[in-house]
Amino acid sequence: MSDQHSFETLAIHAGQDPDPLTGAVVPPIYQVSTYKQDGVGGLRGGYEYSRSANPTRTALEENLAALEGGARGLAFASGLAAEDCLLRTLLAPGDHVVIPNDAYGGTFRLFAKVVARWGVEWSVADTSDPAAVRAAIRPQTKAIWVETPSNPLLGITDIAALAGIAHEAGVKLVVDNTFASPYLQQPLALGADVVVHSTTKYMGGHSDVVGGALVTADAGLAEELAFHQNAMGAIAGPFDSWLTLRGIKTLAVRMDRHSANAERIAELLVAHPKVTQVFYPGLPGHALHEVAAKQMRAFGGMVSFRVEGGEEAAVELCNRTELFTLGESLGGVESLIEHPGRMTHASVAGSALEVPADLVRLSVGIESADDLIADLTQALG
Ligand SMILES: *Cc1c(COP(=O)(O)O)cnc(C)c1O
Repeated sequence: MSDQHSFETLAIHAGQDPDPLTGAVVPPIYQVSTYKQDGVGGLRGGYEYSRSANPTRTALEENLAALEGGARGLAFASGLAAEDCLLRTLLAPGDHVVIPNDAYGGTFRLFAKVVARWGVEWSVADTSDPAAVRAAIRPQTKAIWVETPSNPLLGITDIAALAGIAHEAGVKLVVDNTFASPYLQQPLALGADVVVHSTTKYMGGHSDVVGGALVTADAGLAEELAFHQNAMGAIAGPFDSWLTLRGIKTLAVRMDRHSANAERIAELLVAHPKVTQVFYPGLPGHALHEVAAKQMRAFGGMVSFRVEGGEEAAVELCNRTELFTLGESLGGVESLIEHPGRMTHASVAGSALEVPADLVRLSVGIESADDLIADLTQALG
């Protein structure tokens, strides 16, 4: 598959040539652990054991690399498994990482409760402010971690500006591209060294699979990551790889609809008397709207907002919607609502990443925008 094809075409075809044996137009689920060797060491297509490589996972990994414009993609059992592999590849005791002041709670927990025990230091910076990130870099800093848009406050970081600062200091720039997906934003093209995904979210897109991915344009780093993926073993299984690929085929059309629906919902919320603040990078009032417009094709399906009446009002609102299902996670075709303070971000309570208690987060699905607006309007009362 030529790199010249557009994103929509690559999503459907990259890594997914028809099966040479049968012509099956979709990669089969190779539910297999081991492979017959033609004499000792005579591997067919390089397949030996499915932790090291599996054809269904290869199809997904080639697809991921093509969509992010990388040299290599690697698929994992979850987003956090991908992050763990990346951190153990990049870091050693005594190293330091700059992490954002707004991030997925599980990412923060991985730094604060797991990686810290191995002697890796981290400090928090407002990554939307390049000067703050530059000031946070120490001689021992090995990586800058960025999430843009961020979870749950939809903060925006200027990826190209941070790539400049990181590379000046000889530091790697990692971008968690889960909220945008490669259809809306291409961090490697903007200078990032590694892209991280929870493919559980928009890539899978149907709330039916948990997975993660790493993509890099650096062939040397890709080798090291692939070594650790096999040495540590938290790989994506064949069926999960197949489900993720199936979801990716419709990523472009889904992201267009997610973005269009979210823009309408953000407008509704901005005008609503019970809503005190709306976080959506597509709003001209967002502090980094111009940066978002520069580096994203559209603004995505995530919207957060604060309500009048504090934590109780926010929790009650989450209980009153009918179409918006109360639940964690995001990025599926169905709309979800949640209270970050008590749910997805409970693990950041008391830290620099603590979120407002009156915050509500929406993952806007691809249902009819009119129906979604009607539901939110009745729930807000
Ligand atoms: C969900 C999520 C993760 C973690 O991924 P899992 O697949 O749940 O392990 C990481 N980053 C972001 C932005 C997420 O939303």
